[in-house]
This record gives sequence, C-alpha cells and structure tokens, in this order.
Amino acid sequence: MQTAIRLEKPGTFSAVPDTLPDPAPGEARVRIRRIGVCGTDIHAFHGRQPFFEYPRILGHELAAEIVALNGDSSFQVGEMVAVEPYLNDPTSPASQKGKPNCCESLRVLGVHCDGGMRDELNVPINKLHRAAGSSADQLALVEMLGIGRHAVNRSCAAPQDKALILGAGPIGLSVLSFLQLQGPEIAVADLDEARLDFCRTAFGVERPLLITPDSDLVSMVKNSFGGELPDLIFDATGNSQSMHSTIDLIANGGRIVFVGLFQGEVSFHDPTFHRKEISLLSSRNATSSEFGEVIRAMESGAIDTAAWITHRLNLVDIPSRFASMIEDLSLRKAVIHLDD
Ligand SMILES: [Zn+2]
Repeated sequence: MQTAIRLEKPGTFSAVPDTLPDPAPGEARVRIRRIGVCGTDIHAFHGRQPFFEYPRILGHELAAEIVALNGDSSFQVGEMVAVEPYLNDPTSPASQKGKPNCCESLRVLGVHCDGGMRDELNVPINKLHRAAGSSADQLALVEMLGIGRHAVNRSCAAPQDKALILGAGPIGLSVLSFLQLQGPEIAVADLDEARLDFCRTAFGVERPLLITPDSDLVSMVKNSFGGELPDLIFDATGNSQSMHSTIDLIANGGRIVFVGLFQGEVSFHDPTFHRKEISLLSSRNATSSEFGEVIRAMESGAIDTAAWITHRLNLVDIPSRFASMIEDLSLRKAVIHLDD
C-alpha cells in the first residue's frame, strides 16, 4: 500500500493510504524522489492561500523517477525527471497563443489538484523533463528556478540595464540567478540581513540593501546605482507596499516585473506611471521551454543551487515536523526526501 501525506485543513497533515489508477494513455507513472517546499505550501498550511480547497495533497516541485509509461515517448522507465506541475488545456486560447503558463483553465499540481507528497503519481508524459545530468536535489528546484527564468525572460534584461530585485527569498534568488547571466548591474534589497548575506556570499552581490522601517528607499537605491534609478525592477516580495513603491523607484522609461503575488488590490499614482512611461508586467509560472533552459543552466554549472537547501525531512515526518521547520528563521529552502 502506498502512502500520501495530505493537508486535511490549515495546520494539520495526516498520512493516508493512496491508491492510483493505472496511467491513462499519454500518462506516465512516476515515483517521487524529492519535493521542494515553497511559499505556496506554507501559505496553504497556514490557511492563507485564498480559494484553496482542503483536503489537498501538496507538492508541486517534484523530482521523480519514471516507473511506467502508457504511450510512445522517448523516455525510458528508470529515468530521473523534473515534473512540470502546470496542467494546461492545450486547446485554450492562451495555450494556443504560446502562453500555457497562464492558460484560462490551468490546474497546478498540489494547488488546484492533488500533487506529489506521496509515493507515486500519474502525470502527462509531456510534462516530464529529462535531466540525466542533474541530481535529485537539483531536479526538485527546477520549478522554483523556472519562476525566475520566466520573470527574467519577461523583462528582456540587457547588459546595459541597472536592475533592482526587491525580496531575497527563493523567488528573488531565482530571479537573481538568471539575471546575472544576462549581465546587468544588480542590487538586491530585503528586510533580512541573513538573506542579504547569502546574496553576497553565494552570488557576489556587492551592495545588498538592507531596508529598515526608516529607510529612505529612493535615495538608498539611487546611491547604489551611482545616483540613477534602476531601469528594471523585479518585485519578489508579494507585499503590496513594496509593489506600490516600485513606481517611485523605477527610472523613466523603465520596466517593472511583479513576480510575487499579492492577494488584493495594488494601487499607484497614475500621473507618475504616465510621466515615467513605465512598463508594468506580471510574471506567472513558466513555460515548458523555460524548464529546459533551467535544466541546461544547472547541468552546465551556470546555476549552482547546492547552498540553497537548508532543511531536509522525510515525507513521513511531515505531519510531526513541518510546523516547526517552517518557523525556523534559518529556513531558506526545504527539500522532502522519499528515497533515503
Ligand atoms: Zn513553488
């Protein structure tokens, strides 16, 4: 008998017996090996994820091994893969326009339907990404890195840009990883000194900006870019005040990308928005080809995520240990193990 760990209601996980149907045509059965824990899982645990339905099996950052295939594909049983958790309808208008990441009827594994906190899972074969040269740890971080890859692709960042990242959590770090490959001058701002220290030591960010309650953010940001405002801002905080502040922080003609999501209204001063002729973009999920870009970047060594993982736990220990783990201030990224 297989087991799944199910979030029954906010604050309560339980282990439940799990039986899966045989994989349908076009599906693969995969054995889950590692699962990344992300902000979405933590919000669902705290009951802060609006429109979230309980009970739900969480888990959308999945490293897995193929155990069965029902359909023709170039995959082999036994291969390790990253699972793309975005189940889109290929006939939807957005999918047809090459934007499956924001498909009108998108269902994300572990969010809108049951995900991967279980021994095995059936998934469409076309949502598997081959990564023979990657470790299970690396594969569990592909989805999270895809968020950063997509945001940087949306921004059209160029070497001559001055770019500011607001928020140095895992999503901010994902943006930073790919932004560095494009070559702009980069500053990172956060409220947490330890996170900024990590940007300095792991990414060589020279001037991390520590925001305090009385910071004059505009002067602080200007100082770090030699008196100029940045051409490009990524908000990876999901905080409405931070998102609001980007309108004042951006240079005239600049681009703002909202990667973090705030569950409510964000307002701004329209005359400033117009005067500066700001381009404001949102960024949601990632596309299949961006999953490939992430895997290639990891396999070539351009992206090194080894130092990101601060916490590990076994799937069966989630009901007893998840709550205390996410309270630990040193948590950067947690990975759940099913294989050792
Ligand atoms: Zn995630």
